[in-house]
Amino acid sequence: TTIMNAYNELAAEGLIEGHVGRGTVVKRTYFQAFEDEEAFVDDSPSWLFGLSSMDDLSEGPQARVLSDIASMGERENIISLASATPPPDMLPAELIQSIMSQRLAEGRQSALGYCPVEGLQSLRRALASHMRKRGVPVDFQHILVLSGSTQGIGLIGRFLLHPGDEVVVEVPTYLGAIQTFRALGARIIGIPVDKDGMRVDLLEAMLARRKPRLIYVLPTFQNPTGVVMSLERRKRLLALARRYQVPILEDDPYGEIYFENDVPQPLKALDTRGHVLYLSTCSKILAPGLRVAWLAAAEPLIEMLSLHKQVFDLNTNALGQWLVSEMLRQNVLSKHLETARALYHHKRDLMLDAIKRYWPVPVRIHVPDGGFHLWCHLPGCIRARALLRESIQEQVTFVLGEPFHVDGGGHQHIRLSFASASEDEIVEGIRRIGLAMQRILAR
Ligand code: PMP
Repeated sequence: TTIMNAYNELAAEGLIEGHVGRGTVVKRTYFQAFEDEEAFVDDSPSWLFGLSSMDDLSEGPQARVLSDIASMGERENIISLASATPPPDMLPAELIQSIMSQRLAEGRQSALGYCPVEGLQSLRRALASHMRKRGVPVDFQHILVLSGSTQGIGLIGRFLLHPGDEVVVEVPTYLGAIQTFRALGARIIGIPVDKDGMRVDLLEAMLARRKPRLIYVLPTFQNPTGVVMSLERRKRLLALARRYQVPILEDDPYGEIYFENDVPQPLKALDTRGHVLYLSTCSKILAPGLRVAWLAAAEPLIEMLSLHKQVFDLNTNALGQWLVSEMLRQNVLSKHLETARALYHHKRDLMLDAIKRYWPVPVRIHVPDGGFHLWCHLPGCIRARALLRESIQEQVTFVLGEPFHVDGGGHQHIRLSFASASEDEIVEGIRRIGLAMQRILAR
């Protein structure tokens, strides 16, 4: 049993692979191939050898999580409760099709040409008006269209940070941001999150001693915890940003996916001094494949960041921008969002019910009022890694808590997404995780 457990552990970490009839072999990773002289001489150009910044990115608990989640989505027979993407029936394919056939011929110049680095003027205007409806008084000059909010985190990081600079993040926080800040050589300081969001009191104590260059927060339906930062903490956070002159990057992909009527406005809505750089994306409200996101910030910053953006991708995919702009113009986004909110609300409840029904042990879960995830704190008798290993045997996956942590924590947490799996898959996936738990408890 010990040997089998060791094999399972190595396989779960991707270090070995078994083939029926051939036995178990150590897996060659991409980088190992370069260390093998024969492979190196035979087929790898020498400049690929020892690329140090890539080596940094290949290490740490965050290293391959996002790419693995994305490729898992393409595998059949696996139920993925890992992926934070809308399900196929919420991807607006028919809408896109009808906009394309009605309007593409007239709009071909904006849809299929190059466009201004800052984004299509029509889209910037539509996004500014969309933001104003959410209480953020901006105009089109304050909007920079981006190829995903991932690009936004990277651009802002590259613009503000030098290697060795400090960045404050919540613990836990979005793992993609941790990866970006690490890749830029920043030192990351974690401030814990509780049911009311970031512990701003601890941030205040920290700011009295250190001078970070950036504070990265997810105030609304935080990823992974789903919590919303209280109004009192939002105000205090803004006061601190002002007192210590530190910009805040507000990442808000889930703010419009709420299940109750008590809808929080973005932090940016309270920002009268331009300390908040607001980031949101079409990835969760429409489709991640569009690769359209936006930043709302002070005009001089938009101008400077667009020079950076120009260097790296010239402009965001014009077809995607044109489609989003048309959807906003035809006012179909609000209808789409209504349907999406009702669906995700229902799926959240379905997942919670299935957990109650099928899991043999009590698990602490923050019930989120919006977003895509349940953040689960497992009891001491079940380690998250062991549960993932057993769950993969049952053909179901989720994300471990560790990669969301910068303090080495998260071993007892898992993140389950109720967004992308079908209703049947949610119930079946939870049932199978319950079986995996039972096997662990029986040992
Ligand atoms: N920020 C957060 C908090 C996210 O959850 C995600 C996607 N999971 C992103 C940014 C990246 O989104 P995009 O597709 O816009 O790059």
